[in-house]
Amino acid sequence: MSNQPYRIPVARPVLDEREAEAARRVILSGWVTQGPEVAAFEREFAAFVGAPHACAVSNCTTALHLALKAIGIGLDDEVITVSHSFIATANAVRYCGAIPVFVDIEADGYNIDVGLIEAAITRRTRAILCVHQLGMPCDLARIVEIGQSHGIPVIEDAACATGSEILWEGNWEKIGKPHGDIACFSFHPRKVVTTGDGGMLTTRNPEYDEKFRLWRQHGMSVPDTVRHGSSQVIYETYPEIGYNYRMTDVQAAIGRVQLERLPGIVARRREIALDYARRLAGIEGVAAPREPDWAQSNWQSYCVRLLGAGQRATMQALLDRGISTRRGIMNAHLEGAYLDRGCSVLGSDLARSEAAQNSSIILPLSVQMSEADLAYIAGTLGEVLSRRGRAAA
Ligand SMILES: *Cc1c(COP(=O)(O)O)cnc(C)c1O
Repeated sequence: MSNQPYRIPVARPVLDEREAEAARRVILSGWVTQGPEVAAFEREFAAFVGAPHACAVSNCTTALHLALKAIGIGLDDEVITVSHSFIATANAVRYCGAIPVFVDIEADGYNIDVGLIEAAITRRTRAILCVHQLGMPCDLARIVEIGQSHGIPVIEDAACATGSEILWEGNWEKIGKPHGDIACFSFHPRKVVTTGDGGMLTTRNPEYDEKFRLWRQHGMSVPDTVRHGSSQVIYETYPEIGYNYRMTDVQAAIGRVQLERLPGIVARRREIALDYARRLAGIEGVAAPREPDWAQSNWQSYCVRLLGAGQRATMQALLDRGISTRRGIMNAHLEGAYLDRGCSVLGSDLARSEAAQNSSIILPLSVQMSEADLAYIAGTLGEVLSRRGRAAA
């Protein structure tokens, strides 16, 4: 169809003059790499999630790499995780020379099926890497319990979950308040707040935090900020191999503004998700996502199940009418990078992961969306699905 009424993007970051001004301030200060803005962003992020330590890095993939490295993951160790995630989750395990052990997801969601974890534990299991997929918290309480009973650390891939909350012993807590050992966040533009690219690690363990700071800056014993501020000549040393995983001060300054916006962004996203659920309840052939009563998603993505209609045909019909969507989350085990079975182990049947990839679609969700956009999307989806229903009958 050529006469598109308008085009609704699947996602849009919230950025305006305030972020531009923050970037300008840093540029004109003369210090643009990791420095005082990164330190301030870390303090503010730690306070926001309620973590003793927060360390900023270049993105969530590097955060995951450092997290796994900090708990000692190495060659041929096994890390229990999901295949049903963005490929960076599994890749970070491979960066350590370790083997991701993929277990399936829940029947009615996109997070790890906790009931499958214990059967996947072997003598070589060294970590559980759980994902709060699409911003929806996974069942961290049960995962931490399993980890503790087997002496296995828990790393949270919270890439999508900045601002998501979980009910913990009767209190609502932000994801990133450490219950697992380390949580990793992303500030890619596809997430709810962005620094262009960027990542953060939170932990309660000061030794891990110290390692992150050493490794993100080439393993340098004395950071450049300290040398620049010193009245004494200082020679730095390099006691171990590190990486360049720094966030810049330009990014951090943008991140500080985004963090101020975050509560408002999440509140609006929750309103939109409620509105979606109400509207989708009246449409046959589609199932809205479920939110457990102990979780509050930030609704980084609004992913629905198609009950029968073809995924690609539905997405195309929506695109033809000006609505852009994405297919549901991918599965790493189906990609070329993981087809060589030496790269991964199937810790369970992955039938639900595969079904989710093939039958779910991500609907547009952005703070900028209007009531009219929502009504148009729901109305159009209903129309497209009923047409398919009739065609199939
Ligand atoms: C986006 C994402 C990542 C990677 O984040 P980057 O900051 O882009 O490296 C990792 N895991 C999950 C689940 C993600 O959604």
